[in-house]
Amino acid sequence: MQTAYINHPLCLKHDMGSNHPESPLRLHAIEDQLIAAGIFDFLQQHQAPEATLAQLHRVHEADYVEIIAKNVPQQGLIYLDADTAMNPFSYQAALRAAGAAVLGVDLVMAGQVENAFCSVRPPGHHAGRAQPMGFCIFNNVAVGAAHALQHHGLQRVAIADFDVHHGNGTENFS
Ligand SMILES: [Zn+2]
Repeated sequence: MQTAYINHPLCLKHDMGSNHPESPLRLHAIEDQLIAAGIFDFLQQHQAPEATLAQLHRVHEADYVEIIAKNVPQQGLIYLDADTAMNPFSYQAALRAAGAAVLGVDLVMAGQVENAFCSVRPPGHHAGRAQPMGFCIFNNVAVGAAHALQHHGLQRVAIADFDVHHGNGTENFS
């Protein structure tokens, strides 16, 4: 059985500036390595859909989602906190990044793939219910987990977070 590779071109358009450590280059680097290793052609390619508001509202306060949507800049960057910024594409990219996690869960639950890799930005495991944090606007991981629990009726979901700030953000939802 195959592995799904889920991404979207808008994820490359979210850009927090050339000096920011979380950059579109990260996704290019991942894809380059998958190609160089000869793995890329074996992956089942999928475009990330937008997460719906209902899917986001399982983990984020509706007011928070609305504030993010309303504050997308026409040009340049707006800072949500010291290290999390939005450009004109960031909200749409964030919807795709969260939607990727939802699609990944759906594909695995349908038995269409064995596992799924979401190559998306903005990243999503530090954001809280109503708070952007650590480069994250929405908590993609929590949105995916909530979808598995509430839509697919799973009883438990394990989240393996190997970031140095392990569990920050995501544990906000437990
Ligand atoms: Zn971190």
